[in-house]
Amino acid sequence: MADTSTGERHEFQAEVNRILDIVVNSLYSKREVFLRELISNASDACDKLRYEAQLDSALLKDDPALRITITPDAKKKTLTVSDNGIGMTHDELVENLGTIAGSGTAKFAEQLAEAEKDKAKKEKSDVSLIGQFGVGFYAAFMAADEVTVTSRRAGADEAWRWTSDGRTGFEIEPAEADTPRGTTITLKLKKDAKEFSEALRVETIIKTYSEHVALPVWLAGDGEARQINEAAALWTRQKSEISADQYTEFYRHVGHTFDEPWLTLHNRAEGVIAYTNLLFIPSSTPFDLFDPSRRHGVKLYVRKIFITDECEGLVPPWLRFLKGVVDSEDLPLNVSREVLQNNPVVAKISKALVKRVMNELKKKAEKDPEGYTTFWEAFGQVMKEGIYEDHERRDELLKLARFRSNAVDGWTSLDDYLGRMKDGQEQIYTLTGDKAETMKQSPMLEAFKAKDVEVLLLDEPVDEFWTMSADAFEEKPFVSVSRGDIDLSTIGGENASDEEKTDDEPSGDTAPLIAMLKLALEGEVKDVRESKRLTDSACCLVVDEGDMNMRLQKMLQATGQLGMQSERILEINPKHVLITSLSDIAKGDGATRDVEEMAHLLLDQALILEGELPKDPAAFARRLSDAMARAVG
Ligand code: ADP
Ligand code: MG
Repeated sequence: MADTSTGERHEFQAEVNRILDIVVNSLYSKREVFLRELISNASDACDKLRYEAQLDSALLKDDPALRITITPDAKKKTLTVSDNGIGMTHDELVENLGTIAGSGTAKFAEQLAEAEKDKAKKEKSDVSLIGQFGVGFYAAFMAADEVTVTSRRAGADEAWRWTSDGRTGFEIEPAEADTPRGTTITLKLKKDAKEFSEALRVETIIKTYSEHVALPVWLAGDGEARQINEAAALWTRQKSEISADQYTEFYRHVGHTFDEPWLTLHNRAEGVIAYTNLLFIPSSTPFDLFDPSRRHGVKLYVRKIFITDECEGLVPPWLRFLKGVVDSEDLPLNVSREVLQNNPVVAKISKALVKRVMNELKKKAEKDPEGYTTFWEAFGQVMKEGIYEDHERRDELLKLARFRSNAVDGWTSLDDYLGRMKDGQEQIYTLTGDKAETMKQSPMLEAFKAKDVEVLLLDEPVDEFWTMSADAFEEKPFVSVSRGDIDLSTIGGENASDEEKTDDEPSGDTAPLIAMLKLALEGEVKDVRESKRLTDSACCLVVDEGDMNMRLQKMLQATGQLGMQSERILEINPKHVLITSLSDIAKGDGATRDVEEMAHLLLDQALILEGELPKDPAAFARRLSDAMARAVG
């Protein structure tokens, strides 16, 4: 279309188009949620202005009472939501309402892409995703044919108008000079969405969505405009006056989320430092939990005034899944975000909050072990970061942690593991790897299985890190079964077999073979040894006591933080028929070449068991074919 107006024409970013496509065509039955999105944005905008005005009071100027006004107009078939908050500049309009800028929307786009991969699921997921995640501002197009956003940034002279039909793109033009500060969003309602221009209907909806909003929401229109919410910050009310629905609605509002809270913590502390916390643990893992730029979701208020959601000292990184509000009376109102970083009051509040959350988790774990595992599955990986980052709370965190093991089907705690230890067992055994289920078959576990000794199967990347720093639990050291010497001879009372040898010298028989293997594999392994951990397999790879786990080596090599040099040890099982036969060959004359070939096959086989590829796949294939040819020939 030719551009006939004074405005500039912009196209939507591709992802926005995709979202709009769904939104515009959706017959989502709860489409009234678009109002929640608009109210939530208006309330955010007022919070932002209130914060900026701490430093520059001129911004509030002649209109200091922040509020949201909603105006249904049945005659014009429109609905208008306006706020006198921060407003948007020309560039902010383009950026915020033309790309995927918002957090809630980003989440939706992410899920869409996910669903896109699975065409079968796609059909129904589109619509249910709207309900789950919300689509932010773009939800307005569920009810409107055309949306107009008129905005003046606080402190700016000029105002701008953004218009779009939600299909192709949008236009921006200068707005009237007398546009008041803030943002006014007008929806030209779709034919089947006229209900949103009726005062009664709109009033019912906004009662639900504005109950927890801490600033006044006004309904204007026919008669006199009136305030329809209490505008009391929800967290300042008594617990007994707040319904479960109100908590949930508030959680969704502050958390920009759409699931149910798994845990709600609402407390008031009146000690040396007075504060109120209303915190939530979500019931599902947010998509960006491991995004390095992600921050926690706890907003800091001072006497009901929003200060920041970027106060890092308030919540440790390993609790970054927390959402909610902390409101303190003991911080100055005009405190800057920078000063907050090292503020002793914030540090004290943080300490108390962490304690409270940990206590509550402990209670949950005791009262409802099953429900607790759903929490652990969603956030256990993050909690484990605390084991190595937060030395002070390490023991408590280890108590809260849950693990997979070769002895149980679900999860186990360390306390339960201790309860199952065998007579004479003094250590907690661990194996790290990629997947607990497949790790159960690892040759490293053979000797442990034979003695019925439990091994924890640690299959998350973070396990590599905490196992390096945490050396013991209740004085029982953690020992990796793929590392150093394993001596199980003292374990198991009457089960302890007397053929178990405690000397580390290779039994005379394998010495010539080991010498030849070392020679053949020089530069590829650090050492070749007899194994005490194998009972069925011929060989495996382990690392020395002080060396880094193989998986950690791999992880660091993949990110370039470690050279390709690996320090591994090949262990061979002296009781395995292959090894005894090879030992016999090694003792004969002229066996060098045969053993050399076999040495490489043994190593490659051990590598495959570690989930890696042979160093030289072509050579591996040739050697294997040769060996097979000899077997059938
Ligand atoms: P989110 O609220 O999750 O950030 P939205 O899609 O709801 O995502 O909004 C996108 C962005 O547009 C917001 O982050 C904000 O910067 C801007 N915005 C939306 N509505 C308003 C408003 N009423 N006043 C000021 N800025 C707004
Ligand atoms: Mg929003």
